[in-house]
Amino acid sequence: MSNSLSIPYHKPSIGQEEIDEVVATLQSGWLTTGARTAQFEKEFREYVNVPHAMGVNSCTAGLHLALAALNLGKGAEVITTPLTFCATVNVILHVGATPVLADIGPDGNIDPASIASRITEKTRAILPVHLAGLPADMDSIWALARRHRLHVVEDCAHAIGATYRGWPVGGGNPETGTHSDASAYSFYATKNITTGEGGMVTSHDEALAEKMKVLCLHGISKDAWQRYSAAGKWYYEVLEAGFKYNLSDVQSSMGIHQLRKLPSFLETRKRYAMIYNEILADVEEVETPPDKSDCEHAWHLYTIRLNLDKLSVNRDEFITLLQERGIGTSVHFIPIPLHPFFVSYANLPQNHCPEAMALYPRIISLPLYPAMSEEQVVHAANQVKDLAHAVRKVRAFAAAGGSR
Ligand SMILES: *Cc1c(COP(=O)(O)O)cnc(C)c1O
Repeated sequence: MSNSLSIPYHKPSIGQEEIDEVVATLQSGWLTTGARTAQFEKEFREYVNVPHAMGVNSCTAGLHLALAALNLGKGAEVITTPLTFCATVNVILHVGATPVLADIGPDGNIDPASIASRITEKTRAILPVHLAGLPADMDSIWALARRHRLHVVEDCAHAIGATYRGWPVGGGNPETGTHSDASAYSFYATKNITTGEGGMVTSHDEALAEKMKVLCLHGISKDAWQRYSAAGKWYYEVLEAGFKYNLSDVQSSMGIHQLRKLPSFLETRKRYAMIYNEILADVEEVETPPDKSDCEHAWHLYTIRLNLDKLSVNRDEFITLLQERGIGTSVHFIPIPLHPFFVSYANLPQNHCPEAMALYPRIISLPLYPAMSEEQVVHAANQVKDLAHAVRKVRAFAAAGGSR
C-alpha cells in the first residue's frame, strides 16, 4: 500500500543546466539585464512567433506595462474575467481604468457573449485569461474587438505552450493576420516554466513594444541615449514616470533552459492529465477538466469540478480530507467579487457573474507537474476516486432502508 505517499501541490523542475547557467552568470560580473536576457527574449520570440518580446520581472508587470503603453487610463473600461488571479484586475486599477467583469463559459474562460453584453461607449479593451492553460475563444474576442475598436491584452500566465487553432497562444494567428495588442506570460515558481519570479510581454507592434521598453526602465529614453552618446556613457533623459520592471540575467539564466525544456514539460503534463482523466472518467461525483478540439491545452492546472449534489461533503471538506490522505491541492480561483477589496465593484449589475460564482464552490486543482512521478499521479487520482466514493451521498431510499 502506498497510502503514506505524500504529494505536495507543486514542486519546480530545476536541472543542472539552470544551476550551471546561474553560476556562470554570477561569475560573469554581469547580473542585471544583459546578454542572457537578450538570448532568452530571442528564443521566446521564436517559440511564440512574435516580433517583439521583452523580459519583465513578473506577468503582473507585463500586463501593467501593456495597459499603460496603450494609454488606458481614467474613464476607460477594461473587460476581464472574474475567475482569475487578482493581478489581472489590479493592473486595470493601477492605470486608473475601471475593471468590468464578464461571466465565464463552460470552459471556465471569459464568455464572448457576456463580453458583448458588457460593452459600453467607455469600453477600451478586453483582457482575457487562458485559464489553466486552455485557450479562451480568441476568434470571437478578436471579432468583438474589431467591431467595437477595442484593444486586446492577453493574460497568458498559464498558457505558455498552449496553441489556439494551431498557433502558440499569445502570438495571434499569422494565417489570418489577427493578433492581440500585447500578451503577458508568467515565470512565477509554480508556472509551466519558471525563473523564480519573472515574466515576458510580447507584441506585434513596434511602437507599442518601444513604449513598453521605455516604461519598463524608469521612462528613460534610448533615443536620447543615442543622440547624446557623444557626451559619454553617463547621459540619459527621463521622458515620463516609468516603472522598474526589467528581468535580470540571473533570472534569464534559468529561463533560457526552462524554455528549451518546455516541449518535454508539456508532453509530461499532458500525459499526466490523461492519466487523471482515465482514472476519474467513471467517478460520477467528479467532472474532469474541460478541453477543446481546436486547441492544444498547456495543462498548467488540472482542475476538477465536484458534483456537490452527489457528495455528503462540500469542497472545503473534500480538500481537507484529501490533505489528510497526503494530497496537496489548491483552488483557481477565488472569484474576484468575493475579495473584500472588490466587493464594491461586484455589487454593480455589470459585474454580476452567476456562472463563475456557481463554479467556484466546485473546483479543486490537483497536483500536476513534471517533477511528479507517474506513480504519484496514479496515486493522487486513486485517492480522489477513493475519497469521492467514501463521501458519496447515500440515496434517500437506501438511507430509509429501502428494499432495493
Ligand atoms: C500567476 C498569475 C498572474 C501573475 O503572474 P506573476 O508573474 O506572479 O505576476 C497573472 N494572472 C494569472 C491568471 C496568474 O495565474
